[in-house]
Amino acid sequence: MENTENPTIKIPEDNLVKPYLTLRVLNEAGFKEAMFGLSLNKKQPIENMPKIATKLASMDGGHNKFLEQIIVWLEVRAPRYFWVEADTYRLTSKSSESTMHSILKGHLDEKDFEDFINPKILGYLNDYVNTKDLLKLKTMLPEGFLQRRMWMVSYKTLRNIIIQRYNHRLPHWKIFCDQLKRQLDHPEFLPFDEVEKNIKSQGSSNE
Ligand SMILES: Cc1cc2nc3c(=O)[nH]c(=O)nc-3n(C[C@H](O)[C@H](O)[C@H](O)COP(=O)(O)OP(=O)(O)OC[C@H]3O[C@@H](n4cnc5c(N)ncnc54)[C@H](O)[C@@H]3O)c2cc1C
Repeated sequence: MENTENPTIKIPEDNLVKPYLTLRVLNEAGFKEAMFGLSLNKKQPIENMPKIATKLASMDGGHNKFLEQIIVWLEVRAPRYFWVEADTYRLTSKSSESTMHSILKGHLDEKDFEDFINPKILGYLNDYVNTKDLLKLKTMLPEGFLQRRMWMVSYKTLRNIIIQRYNHRLPHWKIFCDQLKRQLDHPEFLPFDEVEKNIKSQGSSNE
């Protein structure tokens, strides 16, 4: 595409945003303890529990409480408009890269953003880096700015997220769910297949 204002700026031909989200499972804990708790409840040996737990995992309303006891630590890098939605999940804990402490430390470049950023905008932002004007820089920062966070979350909340977001209009949530399915130790406790089936039968998407 030709940029008539400044022909040296190359705007990508397709003009489509390539959604960016990376996820890495850092740690997972509580499976054995959750199975032990369930065995007390069922008055059965702990070895029988994984099979019973797989059946109970989809039964909300108290039966799948053991999902709250399995905790996961994730490293996620995503644009700030993704984090706005992720922050609505209240029963979790996060630690993030701090823009307050680090954004003035060096010039921003294309790699700090999800997709193409017009060099003119980047120039304006870096002017504020040069003048150390933190507030101005934060005010102007595009939502595509990438931020890395550590996210501690239970299987119960992940279940909720998958049900609410697997088919969400932001494609980042699908990438998030697919990575969970690939990396978690117990994807059998989470509703990937159930949600996929519902989408196929309903063919709708969540706004
Ligand atoms: C498609 C979609 C669009 C949305 N759009 C908007 C929007 O435009 N604006 C907006 O503000 N939000 C919006 N939401 C956010 C939504 O309302 C939820 O807050 C968010 O998805 C988190 O879900 P949750 O509350 O079930 O999860 P969590 O916060 O993880 O909570 C899990 C469960 O714990 C319980 N719980 C948590 N905290 C409390 C508490 N203080 N008191 C009692 N029970 C509690 C509730 O049973 C809750 O369901 C949207 C969600 C979806 C899926």
